[in-house]
Amino acid sequence: MKTRGELIERILKLAALASSPSENEASVAALQACVLLREHEESLFVVPQTSSPGVGWVPEKPSQRSVIHEAAAKFMEWRKFVKDHELNEMRAMTSGLCAACGRPFVKNSAVVQRAGIATTHQECAGWWWNFDFPFDDGDIPF
Ligand SMILES: [Zn+2]
Repeated sequence: MKTRGELIERILKLAALASSPSENEASVAALQACVLLREHEESLFVVPQTSSPGVGWVPEKPSQRSVIHEAAAKFMEWRKFVKDHELNEMRAMTSGLCAACGRPFVKNSAVVQRAGIATTHQECAGWWWNFDFPFDDGDIPF
């Protein structure tokens, strides 16, 4: 069984021979190219769908226990932190100074902000992990 690449290479060679000055050679090559195209139509022209598996598709079962990847866990922890502390990852609506490094940020730059509290550059957002958020009346559970 030829690979897809080998098949394409073979068909292209036959196609080149199909314009041979020898009429017989040209005719045989053209015919062979057509036969190969017809026989291998599916493997040549149907692109395997890997992005969206169809009906009946079942994911492979891994042999090991499934654990959350460290990178994904860190990301999820940050997402929860952002949500819990009502932070906004956004484009700065005005220019200002970063609460973490004190350097300016310009309008429309990527920032992390808690409305009415502080704003940091996106790259300085680690600052928020250790920030003592001021008491919020909305947090009172009674
Ligand atoms: Zn900063």
